[in-house]
Amino acid sequence: MKIDDIYNQRRKRWNSLIKSRRESGGGRHECNSCKESFSYAELSDNLWICPQCGNYIAMPAMERIKSICDEDSFKEIYGNMTTSNPLDFPDYDNKLHINQVKTGQLDALIGGSAKIGGNSVIIAVLDSRFLMGSMGTVVGEKLARFADYAGKKKLPLIVFSASGGARMQEGLFSLMQMAATSGAVQSFKDNGGLFISCLTNPTTGGVSASFASLGDIMIAEPGALICFAGPRVIKQTIGQTLPEGFQHAEFLLEHGMLDMIVDRKDMRERLSDLIRLHVRK
Ligand SMILES: [Zn+2]
Repeated sequence: MKIDDIYNQRRKRWNSLIKSRRESGGGRHECNSCKESFSYAELSDNLWICPQCGNYIAMPAMERIKSICDEDSFKEIYGNMTTSNPLDFPDYDNKLHINQVKTGQLDALIGGSAKIGGNSVIIAVLDSRFLMGSMGTVVGEKLARFADYAGKKKLPLIVFSASGGARMQEGLFSLMQMAATSGAVQSFKDNGGLFISCLTNPTTGGVSASFASLGDIMIAEPGALICFAGPRVIKQTIGQTLPEGFQHAEFLLEHGMLDMIVDRKDMRERLSDLIRLHVRK
């Protein structure tokens, strides 16, 4: 079977998955704040913001792309990359399979070319539902390739992060992705590329400590947890009480680590404005 056939088959499966989830109600999704549950369609129509309490629920990557990009403008690239089990980590193959079926994706990062407000961009989105959006070899390699591709095409690079950090099942190979992605993003920027990094809840560990923090423009969603080690680990290590709101988007904005916090409902328009201001005609 040709690689294109595999790819087309997967896209069809993904589209029918989304369609059937919408039509069948897609199960109930519980808001982790108010504990109320909602159907897939209800959440999808409300940008995965809890209709009852306003809590931001983790967005599937394709839903994020749909909410940001101009209609039908997204074309996935490097969509066939899938990881092996380089360390022979117990149960990893099985976990990958379960996550692939659950999300309809081969790994945690999907991306490609698209238009936002009529301007062409390269966009990549981490899906926290896939092994906590962790960065293994495929996520790292794809991110680096998106940066290279955006550089060659002279397009802005927009990345939405949501991640638990490096993928422990790939050990050192995951840690190497921190250097690989940082290097790729830096050379993209050195050549005049615009990199907009959008941090969503949670962006932690090796992702926050590499490409996600290297944006020319750093944006976060309200209330997002953004850190390397989590507050509980730090508290246990230093034995001190941490400041109120520590490591959340608002705290980081106040301390100069972010440029802006943007509500999910305004994200498309804000990105569109930023791209329009920076794009070279
Ligand atoms: Zn809620």
